[in-house]
Formats: sequence, C-alpha cells, structure tokens
Amino acid sequence: MDEEAVTEIFQIKNRPFFDPLIVHIADKKEAEKYASYFPKKAKKLANIFWPGPLTLVLPKSETIPDLVTSGLPFVGLRVPNHPLTLQLLKQLPFPLAAPSANPFGYVSPTTAKHVEEQLGDKVSYILDGGPCEVGLESTIVMFENDENPVILRLGGLSIEAIENCIGKVALNIASHSKPNSPGQLDKHYATRTPLKLVSEVDINTIGKSKTGAIVFYKPFDFLPLEDQKVLSSGKSTEEAAHNLFAAMRELDNLNFDLIITETFPSKGLGPAINDRLNRARG
Ligand code: AMP
Ligand code: MG
Repeated sequence: MDEEAVTEIFQIKNRPFFDPLIVHIADKKEAEKYASYFPKKAKKLANIFWPGPLTLVLPKSETIPDLVTSGLPFVGLRVPNHPLTLQLLKQLPFPLAAPSANPFGYVSPTTAKHVEEQLGDKVSYILDGGPCEVGLESTIVMFENDENPVILRLGGLSIEAIENCIGKVALNIASHSKPNSPGQLDKHYATRTPLKLVSEVDINTIGKSKTGAIVFYKPFDFLPLEDQKVLSSGKSTEEAAHNLFAAMRELDNLNFDLIITETFPSKGLGPAINDRLNRARG
C-alpha cells in the first residue's frame, strides 16, 4: 500500500515497472478486500490450493495502488504456504507486494543464501525460512469472468490439478520480448552461461567446450558424471522442480562454456520445468 516502499522493490531488483507484483495475503478472506470480483471458479481454486503455489489474477479493488499492478485493472493475489511467511502476513495490517528476491531476469532464488549472494548488499534483512519446498514460482490463473480462466504462467501447481478442480483452462504463456505480463518474457530465469537443449548442439563438438548438464533422471553418457546435475533419479517432476533452480545456479558458478539440458515429460510439473528451461535459453 506504500508506493515508496513498492518503488524500492523495483529499484532493488532492477525490475521494469511494466512487470506487476504479486500481492501476498494471509488468507482467502483478505482476497475479498483486494479483488473487486471473486468468481466462483476462482474461489474453488482458492479453497483447495491456498495456501500454496497458486496466484489468482482478479479484477482489482481501488485500494491496490496502480504501481503494484503496472497500471492493469487486475491484481495478482496469493496465499503462500510457509509458516514463517504466514505468521508475518498475519501480523501485518496490510498485504505484501512480494516478488522473488533476485535481480530481474536471473534464475529465481530457492534459499536465503541465494538471496544474500545477489541482493545481500541491497536489503537490510533476509528472513530465512529454509529452502523452498516447491522450488518453482506460483502458477498464475487469470479470471476476467467465471467462464474463461486462463493460465498466464506455468508453475508449482500442475495444469492437471487445476483442471481436476475447475475443468478446462486456456493457456496463454506465449513468449514475447515486450509482454503484458513478464512471466511471459522470452528471455527470463536465465543463467549467465549459455544454456541449450541437447538436440540443438552437435554432440561431437561438445568435447571442445567445457560443458555441464542438467538432466531429469539419466546422465548423458558423453559427459563426466561430476559435470551433471540429475534432478530426480526417481523420475519425479516435483522433485526435479524442487532441484531445478539450485542446479542451474550451481552449474552457472562453475565456469562452463555451455550448459546442456533435455526436454522434460509433459505431465505434472514437467511443462513448468520446460517453460523455465526454454526461457533460460532465450
Ligand atoms: P514474480 O515473477 O513471481 O514476481 O511474479 C510476478 C508475475 O506475476 C508477473 O511477471 C506477471 O506475470 C504476474 N502478475 C502479477 N500481477 C499481475 C497482474 N495484475 N496481471 C497479470 N499478471 C500479473
Ligand atoms: Mg521472479
């Protein structure tokens, strides 16, 4: 609610003002204060998946400053699922506009140490609640009305889970260089080291560049094991999602010329992982 404080969020992250912030609240009742309209299907999702990795984009009430929503008439609302954050939100008499604590465009943090490495000199405090459980950003579902919910960003809640609850939802996660919502930026979540799908590189030339790899469960046989991050030897897309960003960061700090990866299965959190890898490739 404090525009000066919100401006600092954008400055510290070097985040463009056209990228709206998600507003974090303690419970569903709070959402009624900040959304001017709360469609039935949105309520159903909130009942089942809040607290959790779900952001609902709803028509905003006037109390939310335009700065937070980048001038859009919609507000992104979410109840996060962490005891420390919930305790904080319950104690505050206002909601928290809160993005991921990383410089804009880079891989999202999943531990307090990641935050300290990149923003430690810019923020006064880091509240450390341990590593993120899910490890991906929230799934964003937009409601202009009750009939046509649209997923704007894939994330920690699977499409199947959403559709089991409210039926078919449309997907609008297209890549843009100038999007109306920057989860859609074509280059985002990026490592400094170039990242490519293995199908895009000539395996015979890989030996010449120092190459690391991020794989689902089976390491590539043409690279040394110690240069590879296996995200889930048990083939769980949830476990892979949990490990993804930390693996990207670790490899990014090892001075490889190239990081290669593969396409993950299109079920569970696989599509969200593929989305992040694709945007990291740019
Ligand atoms: P994060 O990157 O986790 O900070 O989440 C911010 C993302 O949420 C933005 O980049 C948008 O994709 C989405 N978002 C937040 N608020 C809105 C809104 N009012 N309308 C549309 N998308 C939004
Ligand atoms: Mg972010």
